[in-house]
Amino acid sequence: MTEGGWVAWVLRLVEIGAEGEGRCADVMEISRPDSLGDIADLGLTLANARLVLAGVQREIVAAQARVHAARRPACRSCGTACRVKDYRQHAIATLFGQVTVRLPRFCCAGCGTTEAGVTWPPHIRSTPELDRLQAQFSALMTYRTAAEVLAQMFPLDAGTAHETLRRHTFKVAESLPMPTTVTPATPAEVITLTLDSTFIRSCEAGERHLEVRIGNVETTTGRRQVFGAVAKTDTDLAALIRGNLDAVGRTKNTALTAFTDGCPGLRHILLGVGIAELPILDWFHLAMRQQHLTQVAGSLSSDTPERAAAKTVIIEEVERLRWRLWDGKAQDAGISLERIQAVMPPFQGEPDSRRSVAPSRKLWTALQALDDYLTGQSDWLVNYAERHRAGLRVGTALTEGTANFLVNRRMAKSQQMRWTRRGADRLLQVRCAVYNGTLGSGFGQRFQAANDPHPPVAIAA
Ligand SMILES: [Zn+2]
Repeated sequence: MTEGGWVAWVLRLVEIGAEGEGRCADVMEISRPDSLGDIADLGLTLANARLVLAGVQREIVAAQARVHAARRPACRSCGTACRVKDYRQHAIATLFGQVTVRLPRFCCAGCGTTEAGVTWPPHIRSTPELDRLQAQFSALMTYRTAAEVLAQMFPLDAGTAHETLRRHTFKVAESLPMPTTVTPATPAEVITLTLDSTFIRSCEAGERHLEVRIGNVETTTGRRQVFGAVAKTDTDLAALIRGNLDAVGRTKNTALTAFTDGCPGLRHILLGVGIAELPILDWFHLAMRQQHLTQVAGSLSSDTPERAAAKTVIIEEVERLRWRLWDGKAQDAGISLERIQAVMPPFQGEPDSRRSVAPSRKLWTALQALDDYLTGQSDWLVNYAERHRAGLRVGTALTEGTANFLVNRRMAKSQQMRWTRRGADRLLQVRCAVYNGTLGSGFGQRFQAANDPHPPVAIAA
């Protein structure tokens, strides 16, 4: 092993203008070990890199400010050349450190009109790129974590408080453009729309939960856009949905199928979008309830001959019920429910165990819940079997996936987070934009091609 020495590099910026080489400035000196005995000595460290970025940023901004200050704009009112009125300091947080620029304000020599000389508002404190990156990170992790990660990676020395990230995220959310047709839009023959709701914890006085409405539009060619809004905010969900439909190529000839879990509020929103036909109850929702029923039936006790016989009947009937729902026959489903209820007596008085409710009581509750659900939704059931045979979708089966992507991973109950109505809505807008790849350069689209042709049967089976 040789004794390691150090080498220094001077980072020098040379300005190249129209007249060739101009001013040059030494940004910094980088000192690194001259041997590679230790892998950690290879190349730049993060600390070096952050200093380089901050140094280069300072020099470039200073050079831009010098050029800017030498300009004399013409008056917007009379065209006379302006003269400098005074100078103002602007402290701006950038992704590569806080910079201070001294900018002239101008005054017209002719009519006395004041000219700012820049188009950005005088109160601006950060660059749009910094705001956007903070919003992107905040969409993926908590404000606090996002602030820490960014501060680790970049030479930020202002705007690193998590409150600042929240404020910037709101700002970005509120300036997001409405999704519109990307020209030239490929016309979509078929679009499937899913609209559902989920809940997150509220921190607002007088309410425990906030309703979050989420959904997606998909074409058969794999185009997909997600959208969402927290209920009772100023976000116009119907307008968002219309914009997203246009963005994936809806025309007046598009066959549009809507799936929801059928709460009246969602149906009302669909009407606002111009979907007058009854939406279809997503098979996914039915299958989930069905699956629960199957599990509970299988856990019934068979400790007496009467119970064993009843259990056999119940398991058969639950199976039959699935096929009845699959055929869209809500009324026949009622028959199944009655038959199951008729053979339940051997389980009457079954005590709960110390750990959990007796399976027969669970079954009873699940049956009641399904009965109530079907009573409210029977108009929305379709013949899923027939649709499926015709190669049509019976549900998107993306409901849970969409909810997970958009809401649960960042805003869910398990994280013990509580949200204000506006705060949750703004973050949701940014999350949607991140997943749709419309937040500007950066992460791009987060969804994989999501069109799975056979999910409903997999759930039913
Ligand atoms: Zn003037």
